[in-house]
Amino acid sequence: MRLSRFFLPTLKENPSEAQIVSHRLMLRAGMVRQHTAGIYNWLPLGTRVLQNIANIVRDEQNCAGAQEIIMPTIQSGELWKESGRYDDYGPEMLRIKDRHDRDMLYGPTHEEVVTDIFRYNVKSYRELPKNLYQIHWKFRDEVRPRFGVMRGREFLMKDAYSFDIDYERSKHAYNQMFVAYLRTFARMGLKAIPMKADSGPIGGDLSHEFIVLAETGESAVFCHKTLLEKPVPENVNYEGDLQPIVDDWTSYYAATEEKHDPVAAAQIGGELVSARGIEVGHIFHFGKKYSDPMKANVIGPDGNQTAVFMGSYGIGVSRLVGAIIEANHDDAGIIWPASVAPFHVGIINLKTGDTACDDACAKLHKAIKLNGLDVLCDDRDERAGVKFADMDLIGLPWQVIVGPKGVAKGVVELKNRRTGAREELSMDAVITKLTVAA
Ligand code: ATP
Ligand code: MG
Repeated sequence: MRLSRFFLPTLKENPSEAQIVSHRLMLRAGMVRQHTAGIYNWLPLGTRVLQNIANIVRDEQNCAGAQEIIMPTIQSGELWKESGRYDDYGPEMLRIKDRHDRDMLYGPTHEEVVTDIFRYNVKSYRELPKNLYQIHWKFRDEVRPRFGVMRGREFLMKDAYSFDIDYERSKHAYNQMFVAYLRTFARMGLKAIPMKADSGPIGGDLSHEFIVLAETGESAVFCHKTLLEKPVPENVNYEGDLQPIVDDWTSYYAATEEKHDPVAAAQIGGELVSARGIEVGHIFHFGKKYSDPMKANVIGPDGNQTAVFMGSYGIGVSRLVGAIIEANHDDAGIIWPASVAPFHVGIINLKTGDTACDDACAKLHKAIKLNGLDVLCDDRDERAGVKFADMDLIGLPWQVIVGPKGVAKGVVELKNRRTGAREELSMDAVITKLTVAA
């Protein structure tokens, strides 16, 4: 992609409305623009990152055995009257009337809709287990939308819903999501710590929030430092027993402020980390809470109708864009982990219009692309300083700097955005190095 053609409205100044660094950088790097309070337009650079994140989430959900569907954003109020939540949900739910004066709503979550799909289409325990998920827009009329996409009113969520015949199998579905979440966040270069959360009226301990540590996080958190160093499971067999993995991860102290136990924490002493965190995911077992009132029954092994056990599993896909920036930036801008970067490599042409530089850039661009990497080439007629600043701001992992002196010697400069390390290399060596790094 040539930057002269790419829609990238960067800003030099810090926008005054942004209170935290990710929001500032997302506006400055031309990733998003606010449409109205808590509702954003995603511009090309932001859209690329959002899609990369969604694809990692999708890949790990699929590996764990969940199946992707798409449910409507606009839902019928009738279903919510059946579950009893129509009156309970409160002003966060955007309620709409259609032309026939029927109650509709913009979905803040999809338990009712997915339970409705299930009850009309699954009849026997033999068809279980099932786990259905979508990656789709939600609307919650938050009292205080803030921090850009971190707490929006419209936001992109991955929401999965599991259906099982009994508690034990439902727990396995829960464990599958627990492990998939560990892997999902690690693939984005994040350390996400599972913390026990409120499990509501049904009790039990099957509810965890996944929290990314960042100075600007909304909640205070405490955890054992081992959790920050622990490698996530590889080559997971999702059919096998995942309980040992979950037990291992939950055997260390980790708590949000509300759940913090100073006595237990004191025993950990110097190993305790106290920090701030951002909730990026939440998994939750709720048994028959919806299947009972909505009659989502199947025929059990004994021949009797029985309501299924359910769980729901959310990931804040659009919030993750902000969370990743909170954890990966410096004074000059964003530093994308390669797995979510909007492009892998940025080429800076220091002398656009100079035939030797233009040719070298075109050759590099083509060769890097042929190796399966996404490239953004700054071919604008701009000062070098502007190009350097913009390239640092948008945070691509690698920069290739092409100038007339180097090209005359047959070399270009390769810069690693994270370390700042620079080296002069031949064009072939750059291509090889980038391909190996990716
Ligand atoms: P919070 O406590 O942050 O309000 P929640 O408990 O209401 O979140 P869930 O219903 O568990 O959120 O939603 C699943 C995930 O969706 C959350 O873990 C979070 O990452 C994301 N999320 C929730 N609300 C928002 C929002 N207003 N803007 C962006 N992401 C959100
Ligand atoms: Mg939550």
